[in-house]
Amino acid sequence: MARDSRIEWTDHTFNPWWGCTKVSPACDHCYAEAWAKRVGLDIWSAGRPRRFLSDAYWRQPQRWNAAAEESGRPARVFCASMADVFEWKQGLSRWRERLWHLIEDTPFLDWLLLTKRPHLVRRLAPWGDDWPANVWLGTTVEDQKWVNKRLPHLAMNPARVRFLSCEPLLDEIHLDDWLEQEAVHWVIAGGESGPKARPSDPAWFMAVRDQCIAHGTPFHFKQWGDWAPLDAVASRNLPRKFLRDGYSTPMGRFGKKAGGRALEGRTWDGVPMSVSENGL
Ligand code: SF4
Repeated sequence: MARDSRIEWTDHTFNPWWGCTKVSPACDHCYAEAWAKRVGLDIWSAGRPRRFLSDAYWRQPQRWNAAAEESGRPARVFCASMADVFEWKQGLSRWRERLWHLIEDTPFLDWLLLTKRPHLVRRLAPWGDDWPANVWLGTTVEDQKWVNKRLPHLAMNPARVRFLSCEPLLDEIHLDDWLEQEAVHWVIAGGESGPKARPSDPAWFMAVRDQCIAHGTPFHFKQWGDWAPLDAVASRNLPRKFLRDGYSTPMGRFGKKAGGRALEGRTWDGVPMSVSENGL
């Protein structure tokens, strides 16, 4: 099936609208805001308008769904890369309703709803205790404070797959209790990119990976981002900057491409199975 997303763990991206308001340190260097500014849109913060998309855009998932049905392989749709589906703002309800119907009408697509506002999911999602099998619900946790705040809200929603995005990872985090209870079925981790990117210590990623391995939870290492440990990058690449103090191993600013996505010598591409893959 044709892919139209550059994100490794999804086939497609879909945005019910563009625009958002920052809510935590993970948002500080929001790439979506930077992208919107680059194309001349002033749509970030509570008081600014959102950008809504055409009917033709909204018809695309129906085509992806038909192609997935024909191929016999479900496709993953990341929703949303330019917004937060669970943002509380006047004027969004109508678009959210439209999204819920679209999700229910496309059973061969696994919809990955990633939010930094899981406390609003029970109020804004229509499914209560009976979620469609093709919805995966995820939240971002950048440090332990946000693990403690967001994970209880994620866990109370019976989505078939609940996942975490630890990106950008800004500190060591402890997930054992949640993984033990199977409150989380998939963990994605990665570093930050962009001019103000903050380095993530490799030890933080290894600790998350090891917790996932210990509990049999699929782990996906997305990328280092702009900063990577010197020993993870081929010697022909020279870092533009070094950092030694405060990190478990010397870090270099190589840029996202050169930094790559190998953690301790290999890639980590764990992903849960789709509905039709595991026969549910
Ligand atoms: S929630 Fe996501 S889209 Fe919204 S400001 Fe934060 S990082 Fe950007």
